[in-house]
Amino acid sequence: MNIIEVQNVTKKYSNHLALDNISLAIRKGIVYGLLGPNGAGKTTLIRILNQITAPDSGMVFFNGNPLSRKDIEKIGYLPEERGLYKKMKVGEEAMYLARLKGLSKNEALERLKYWFIKFEIQNWWNKKVEELSKGMQQKLQFITTVVHRPDFLILDEPFSGLDPINTNLIRQELLELKRQGTTIIISTHNMASVEEICDEICLINKAHKILEGNLVEIKQQFKENIYSLTLDSEREIPMLSEIYNVMETSSSENRRHYVVKVLEGGSANQLLQHVMNYGNILSFNEILPSMNDIFIQQVEKYNSELKMDNKSR
Ligand code: ADP
Repeated sequence: MNIIEVQNVTKKYSNHLALDNISLAIRKGIVYGLLGPNGAGKTTLIRILNQITAPDSGMVFFNGNPLSRKDIEKIGYLPEERGLYKKMKVGEEAMYLARLKGLSKNEALERLKYWFIKFEIQNWWNKKVEELSKGMQQKLQFITTVVHRPDFLILDEPFSGLDPINTNLIRQELLELKRQGTTIIISTHNMASVEEICDEICLINKAHKILEGNLVEIKQQFKENIYSLTLDSEREIPMLSEIYNVMETSSSENRRHYVVKVLEGGSANQLLQHVMNYGNILSFNEILPSMNDIFIQQVEKYNSELKMDNKSR
């Protein structure tokens, strides 16, 4: 079952096409990564999902029905532009925003207490928002985004400005919310987080969807038969250059390490059988491309194809 279905959505700003006939579906209960270079159209799509702006054509469905105002209370939105009232006290502001989401005073207080204790920020309650660092404000904003327990969370760059510890904290909280059944769409340039928490991704570039699917399957799809292996001997191994391309080798403390690309016609088994003659194998792993590499490769490929297309016209 899909919580969100975007069907043939197009959005134009004066003369600029921000989204060109985009369709995608987000299954319930997953973390969905919305990726793309600056200016790709991610924020425009997020603003459409939040009903801040409407598509020029196409439809968005929420739980099978056309997205409407009443769905807003089921959606939690963390915008990239942080909109906190700087002069207010942290506790007051958190209460105000929680009440805006429809919580009663008692519910709001109870849930905020839970989150403030969880994030170990109880002693901020009476501080002014402007006294908090950017990262602290972001934690506060995260809390106010999830406090009404939305079914669907939309997070635009939730890790920007966070140190590695807080990035990890938010990542863990997102996985916990997912375990509880929340569906999450996350737009971020933090590829390490994408690798860690996303089940599926969609890569958009210049208003078009250029790649979509399960993260693990995508990594498999773009794999290049590269393996990492370590032997218990420092000695170099003669590699048959027509089958193996040695990309890296190093040795230390009676060990030799290789990164090898197995070329067409060769196989991982053949490689293992070959190297076995030169020592004991301590480790052998396939190296899959990182989401970062796939992102850059696919965007560059699309852009150069577009250039060629324009030239041949
Ligand atoms: P992303 O979030 O992927 O960086 P955006 O959705 O913000 O991309 O922007 C997509 C394109 O649309 C960009 O070229 C941007 O300049 C343009 N754009 C976004 N919002 C507006 C607007 N309100 N008016 C005019 N152009 C806009």
